[in-house]
Amino acid sequence: MTGTDGGAETGPAGVTAIWGRAEQQDFRSRVRGCLLGGAVGDALGAGVEFDSLDAIRAAHGPQGVTDYVTAYGRRGAVTDDTQMTLFTVDGLIRAHVRRDTGAWHPPTDVHAAYRRWAATQRDWGPDERREEDGWLAREEWLYARRAPGNACLTGLADDRMGTLENPKNPGSKGCGTVMRSAPFGLLVGWEPQLVFQLAVECAAQTHGHPTGCLAAGAFATIVHGLARGESLDAAVQRTLVQLATRPGHEETTEALKHALGAVRQGMPSPERVAALGEGWTAEEALAMGVYCALVAEDVRHGLLLAVNHGGDSDSTGSICGNLLGAIHGETALPPAWVAELEGRSTILELADDFAMEMTQGPALHGPAGASSAWLSRYPRA
Ligand SMILES: [Mg+2]
Repeated sequence: MTGTDGGAETGPAGVTAIWGRAEQQDFRSRVRGCLLGGAVGDALGAGVEFDSLDAIRAAHGPQGVTDYVTAYGRRGAVTDDTQMTLFTVDGLIRAHVRRDTGAWHPPTDVHAAYRRWAATQRDWGPDERREEDGWLAREEWLYARRAPGNACLTGLADDRMGTLENPKNPGSKGCGTVMRSAPFGLLVGWEPQLVFQLAVECAAQTHGHPTGCLAAGAFATIVHGLARGESLDAAVQRTLVQLATRPGHEETTEALKHALGAVRQGMPSPERVAALGEGWTAEEALAMGVYCALVAEDVRHGLLLAVNHGGDSDSTGSICGNLLGAIHGETALPPAWVAELEGRSTILELADDFAMEMTQGPALHGPAGASSAWLSRYPRA
């Protein structure tokens, strides 16, 4: 397996025949859960991203944050983690739709989507977006700067696409690669090695350090296992096997093993989370998110554990929420948090579009014809 320009077996066409109604609904619930769960975790951490644990406890009580706190002028505000995750989804749908034209290079479509995200960080609003930018880039609420990562901004500042051979920000391993990569794992019709490879290649568009790229690939592969119904423990174990074949995997492997080891050390606590790191780097954020999801008694417990620490609370909350949502589906998310979440309708609409594309894509578009409504949402140009 050498790249992501793969064969016909990875496309949507072969998948459709095996999707029954129950399977489609289960998949859609995991997609919704993954995207909404990540956004809820992001929003829970948004108000304390730059605070120490002591400062969080001083401001919000001995339990720390137990509910949304105001950030960016409202409760339930999401940050760059959710914004970029949505554009990952947009890029993946576009890649599948564009395949009708004979073009098949998903990293190019994901890169174009990330460039549309970069425009939301630069422009006041969507006035300059064109028809071919699709619907997501015209969502006005996305035009907001929510402490975006520097490597993400600089990596996407010009139109040269970073690749594994020639990555952007070669020394960077910030968690910006991991926090946006859950949607790759939702490509359930793909082989795990291709999911891993695509996430790694797309990570290099902003971060070139091997750990930055491999941690993104690992996260995508874990989500992929969950979306296919595996347990989190099994998905992590399988991912460790996959990681071991890649040069430069040691930091990511060690971090995941620390997370598994921490589970066996006893009752979860903020101190145990802090022992895994602060989450500013890719491998630490991955380990912290995975640990909190592994020990979660329920979604609420896991998410609060994931945001109450002195590090990158919104990213670790987002990663944990992606995992818990993919495991349990949307109905397991605390409904009051879903109800108050910024961008909920956009997230749901995109989640449903992704699930439709993956399970019913050939009914929406193909070489013989296409829904014009679908093509205006996800233009082939
Ligand atoms: Mg953030």
